[in-house]
Amino acid sequence: MEQSNKITIGILGGGQLGKMLFEAGSPLNNRYRFLESSPDCPASLVCNNQVVGGLMDADKIETLAEGCDVISYEIEHVNIDALRKLEENNKSVFPKSNVLKTIQDKGLQKQFYRNHNIPTLDFILSTSANLQTSVERWPDTKFVLKHRKGGYDGKGVQVITKSQYAELLSSKDDSINNDSGFVIEKFVPEVTEVAVIVGVAQDGTITSYDPCEMVFDPKSNLMDYLIAPSSLSQEINNRCKEIATKVVRSFDSPGLFAVELFIDDNDDVFVNEIAPRPHNSGHHTIESCITSQYEQLNRILLNQPLGDTRLMCPAATCNIVGPPDVLGEYIIDNLDEILSISGVYIHMYGKASTSPYRKLGHFTILSETKEEVVNKMKQVKELLKIKST
Ligand code: ADP
Repeated sequence: MEQSNKITIGILGGGQLGKMLFEAGSPLNNRYRFLESSPDCPASLVCNNQVVGGLMDADKIETLAEGCDVISYEIEHVNIDALRKLEENNKSVFPKSNVLKTIQDKGLQKQFYRNHNIPTLDFILSTSANLQTSVERWPDTKFVLKHRKGGYDGKGVQVITKSQYAELLSSKDDSINNDSGFVIEKFVPEVTEVAVIVGVAQDGTITSYDPCEMVFDPKSNLMDYLIAPSSLSQEINNRCKEIATKVVRSFDSPGLFAVELFIDDNDDVFVNEIAPRPHNSGHHTIESCITSQYEQLNRILLNQPLGDTRLMCPAATCNIVGPPDVLGEYIIDNLDEILSISGVYIHMYGKASTSPYRKLGHFTILSETKEEVVNKMKQVKELLKIKST
């Protein structure tokens, strides 16, 4: 088969982000190989070049890298030492392993921002052993307690008061024991959350997407929907892009990064955290931007010119998650009705079974105005039901 080039991209992880990355490479017949322990993972539906194995398994990572020219990852929880070894053997790993090392640990991330004069919320670091003393010393009654490592999608993060902490302590709750330690962070009430996707090419060229605004479901702590363009002023949007570009530049590595930002009610902007990979907050770019976040990462990995990031029309994306009361095999109800609405794009990730709040897919809505986007989104949310088979 004709190929756009002779480069094979190796990806650690075979979830939905890998699936969408491979889909974006299909028009140019890009070549991929990926590592994932489950043979029927989402990426296996679109790529048959899979190494079956765990993402912490150094030998399997080496097997993946054999025959690949460049390595990246679609999840942070991978064996960094194995990636470093690949780099020592002159294999390109983007983003570089030292970036991932910082990002895997919320404590190191916060210190990195502080050391690079990047605005981030006040924090202190604590071990499990001295957590009680650290909480007592923290100046505010309410604060955010975060596990330094291993959390995702809000797991390992809790907003609590000092008295709630005391209850957790007396009931010996598991959440206040963590081998990697904790970040205690200032709580921002009524926070606005936006994300800026930034791409860094191998020659150092940087480009960013306009910020999109995220709205979270308070029950699951997962993103409920995101909307672009954001409702922020042009001045704040520009500041978000500047800060996001500065932080990514400080990491000094090619790659695609999602910079999550908090904005408080004084319009001050703070970096929350970074994902060194395609991100939920960029799903809408598939249909709404000239170049999607997935195509952008493909271009970065293949050392091609970066694509135009402009948003072509207002867009919203919602996660499709498993309902709290459905387990096992499932169907989507009302699909025909949903598909008869113009400007609705459904992406299902091919996961065989559902469980409460499992991310099963997402849908994106495009329309001419933000108002129409929000109305159609509400309509689809009403119609779209995940049901047991
Ligand atoms: P994760 O890495 O699991 O996504 P985050 O640190 O992004 O964890 O926190 C998850 C969510 O918790 C955020 O998206 C936000 O809604 C809320 N949150 C986290 N930190 C704060 C904070 N300091 N103030 C207010 N809300 C916060």
